[in-house]
Amino acid sequence: MLLTCENCETIFRIESAQLKTPGQQVRCSVCKHVWAPEVINEDPVEPQLIRESISVLRFPILICVAITLLLTLIGFNRGTITSYVPITINAFDMAGLTIRPDLTKLEVRNLKANYAGDTLRVSGNLANKSSLRVHAAPLQLTISDSDEVVLHTQRILPADLFIDSGDVTDFFIQIDIEKTNQAEVSVTPLAIRIDPTLSGSQ
Ligand SMILES: [Zn+2]
Repeated sequence: MLLTCENCETIFRIESAQLKTPGQQVRCSVCKHVWAPEVINEDPVEPQLIRESISVLRFPILICVAITLLLTLIGFNRGTITSYVPITINAFDMAGLTIRPDLTKLEVRNLKANYAGDTLRVSGNLANKSSLRVHAAPLQLTISDSDEVVLHTQRILPADLFIDSGDVTDFFIQIDIEKTNQAEVSVTPLAIRIDPTLSGSQ
């Protein structure tokens, strides 16, 4: 350890084993000043080693935490990320993180069902209620009679694969089905990703 004379400020190197008793006095060989230095029991090298090993460890731990957080965020927001950058969809698929439309952000609006003879025409919009771009969803059309007996079900694909914030995509279908009075027509989004090869646009 290093010891500084409190009188002439000469610095001496001494073995820390030589200075273990509290109140032990030392004499400066330069100015002959006698004083009782503060006894340090710890080897000064040790705390430095500990500090270094902590700072070396802290860095990779922080990186691991940051990467984990980032991956978690990407995992949770992959629907949003892929709707803005569709080219990333395959990467998520390969990572086993399947992209599905978020049904809480989608809403069927302006649903219209009209018969023209025995042809039923169903149209409407699929709206994005959220503040970010989303994946559109395939729609399940269900036609049931007044006794809730299902007469017909069919899947409809909307016009677009993605819907901008606050925007809508249209859907339309016509089916040859015997006209029934009081037929109930319902259209609900499905949490299934639209196969781009089946969609009309994009
Ligand atoms: Zn001295």
